[in-house]
Amino acid sequence: MSEITHRTKTRKVKVGNLTIGGSNEVIIQSMTTTKTRDVAATVAQIKRLEEAGCQMVRVACPTMEDALAIPEIKRQITIPLVVDIHFNYKLALKAIEGGADKIRINPGNIGKQENVEAVVRAAKEKHIPIRIGVNAGSLEKHILDKYGYPTADGMVESALHHIKILEDLDFHDIIVSLKASNIKLATEAYEKAARTFDYPLHLGITESGTVFSGSIKSAAGLGILLNEGIGNTIRISLSADPVEEVKVCRELLKTFGLTNAATLISCPTCGRIQIDLIKIANQVEEYISKINAPIKVSVLGCAVNGPGEAREADIGIAGGRGEGLLFRHGEVIRKVPEDRMVEELKIEIDKIAAEYFEK
Ligand code: SF4
Repeated sequence: MSEITHRTKTRKVKVGNLTIGGSNEVIIQSMTTTKTRDVAATVAQIKRLEEAGCQMVRVACPTMEDALAIPEIKRQITIPLVVDIHFNYKLALKAIEGGADKIRINPGNIGKQENVEAVVRAAKEKHIPIRIGVNAGSLEKHILDKYGYPTADGMVESALHHIKILEDLDFHDIIVSLKASNIKLATEAYEKAARTFDYPLHLGITESGTVFSGSIKSAAGLGILLNEGIGNTIRISLSADPVEEVKVCRELLKTFGLTNAATLISCPTCGRIQIDLIKIANQVEEYISKINAPIKVSVLGCAVNGPGEAREADIGIAGGRGEGLLFRHGEVIRKVPEDRMVEELKIEIDKIAAEYFEK
């Protein structure tokens, strides 16, 4: 299909200090797994997520006790806080009053018109957006009756139904997600949505699985969309510690050059190998995972092909018998013994990162 460069053409919506949409930046989001009312545990998890690169975090708010915890959580964190409300408008009002930077609620699920109006009024007063979350598994009955089963058309129709309720109240700070666990369905729904309206899109494949299967499934589906220019915020949903979600998000965005982060190039190893390359590659990957500079680091097993293969890299190491060649942009800078390889590489990585930030 033809390329859609919709990412830059969406409306801009402010969430705390972030601007969602209108640019190529894709914001990394995750969701806590703690009980929101347990402020200490929730804040501790949010801090771990932030350290891993999470830029916006969502918390579940199933009870009033959870909603009442929002002000204290807000006081202790720096990234914008999204509060997930199922349908109870009183919880939405309490979360907004408590300082939520965005709420996730479907206006069509709130009930009476006066309740919808109360939520929209409160969101307007605080200048916070509402995310409409369409899920293939919970489409409205009238849409399921019309299409027979969840379809992309049905999902977009559901989104438009909720959007209209907000637009009729002159509310336009809207972000939309159209999640499904079926990749084909999710990608078709997002593509159709991107052609239909210009509200920013939050990407996700729902119930995608564990770290291994869920990461592959999400990357396959969301990669299609990112490549088409679709998506303004992103979450990889995994049955795992949410820090893993952030790591996968970062890696996926790196693949498309959509985030400032260091990348590792490492060889698959073969019979020529004379160093413990797999261990070294993992240590280097862990080290660069928090570097917010677009540095390419290569770790290659063999000095014969190594420097040539890694000419693209800013810094790299190519193994030999018990030693390695350290090279920068394909030029050898020095030899280092195997037991010093990782440390020497880290020193050079830090130098290049410092040069990047000095620019
Ligand atoms: Fe084999 Fe060397 Fe290529 Fe690694 S870089 S796969 S060790 S030939």
